[in-house]
Amino acid sequence: MKDVIVFNSLSNKKEVFKPIKDKEVSIYVCGPTVYSDPHIGNCRPAVVFDLLRRLFLFLGYDVKYVSNFTDVDDKIINKAIERNISEKELTDFYIKEYLKIMDELNVLKATQNPRVTEYMDDIISYIDNLVKTNHAYFKNDNVYFRISSISDYGELSNVTTDDLIAGSRIKENEDKENPFDFVLWKKTDKGITWDSPWGKGRPGWHTECVVMISKIFGKLIDIHGGGFDLKFPHHENEIAQCKATYNTELANYWMHNGFIDLNNQKMSKSLGNVINAKDFISKHGGLFVRYTLLNCHYRAPLKLSDELLENNLNEINKIQKTLNDVRIFLQFNEIDYKSDNRYNIDKFIDYLCDDLNISNAMSELFNETKIINQELRKKDKDIQTLILHHNNLLKMINVLGLRFDIIILEEKDKELLKAYNLARANKDFVKSDEIRKELIERKLI
Ligand SMILES: [Zn+2]
Repeated sequence: MKDVIVFNSLSNKKEVFKPIKDKEVSIYVCGPTVYSDPHIGNCRPAVVFDLLRRLFLFLGYDVKYVSNFTDVDDKIINKAIERNISEKELTDFYIKEYLKIMDELNVLKATQNPRVTEYMDDIISYIDNLVKTNHAYFKNDNVYFRISSISDYGELSNVTTDDLIAGSRIKENEDKENPFDFVLWKKTDKGITWDSPWGKGRPGWHTECVVMISKIFGKLIDIHGGGFDLKFPHHENEIAQCKATYNTELANYWMHNGFIDLNNQKMSKSLGNVINAKDFISKHGGLFVRYTLLNCHYRAPLKLSDELLENNLNEINKIQKTLNDVRIFLQFNEIDYKSDNRYNIDKFIDYLCDDLNISNAMSELFNETKIINQELRKKDKDIQTLILHHNNLLKMINVLGLRFDIIILEEKDKELLKAYNLARANKDFVKSDEIRKELIERKLI
């Protein structure tokens, strides 16, 4: 099996991936807080880690992929109150919307999409254990995690003692022993609440993923993913709790994707420069949006611009046209290409195995389109070459999860193509123009 190299945020370097269990990969990606329509920035981790998942599947791994829905949160509670509906009604609606978008983007269904509210008993007993082992303390109605109780807090994000001191000036909270201690349980009577040993309330954000991971997978997983913005404090605090409970770092590999920039500014709800994912997809189509989210190294910022979108559209059209041309040629000439399953995409896969080097992988893909087009232009076409590179191209777009149209000619299409060729051979341009229109309509030209 080929080595997969990933950039591990924990060590800050590229490492050869070694699974905990042979030929198995466990991946957890922090999912959305479901209180509004997702913007395309929210879709980037889903698409990036879907590519990683597809790569592992191609290599023959059994992949368990879990991504949660945060369905308890102040923003959810406030919006439910505002709309006079229950939190569940609100989150059910936005979960459905999110899943529709994932389907449009051809993101494989997760092995499991746990919801926080389904794990409340586990979350409460997890926090209770942290209190009992002195890793957490109860002060004025709230429970806080005690970061001084574990060694090397900050190893993922590299926050230093200086940062901690600087932070103390900004975030003054007299109940906390240390300014970076974080809330595990919050007393509240606003919106949905649960009974706990510390009174009615709800959990803080940082405990849910650790609990769901330990319930679904156990103490340690292979890969934990999410956006760069989750590195601190969310992922740092997940690690802190896991160290306190199980003395592990929760995941062997931590992977983070970059943001999306619009006009050189990070796309974020707080800046108000977000592009609604649903609108963007209905305008450009799922294939285009997935292509755009993939066609940039996952750790780099994706700088959206009109030029970039135009370039992507040209590339997509080029791939689609090549795929159509070769398939039409093979099918029209009744060539049995289906019984030949050979393909060779080693170089393409090697690039993806190198921390998802998408630009080199795409060069390999365009090399395939070039070979196919060159062969199609020849008078004496080498059928074996066409079949092999057709298969390569199909495999590549499959690994990338790009849902191009796959033409299958019907008898009527073949008749039309024959009539078109005949009209052209007879220089009957009125007729050939007429058929041409129909061929365009049927996307055969
Ligand atoms: Zn999380």
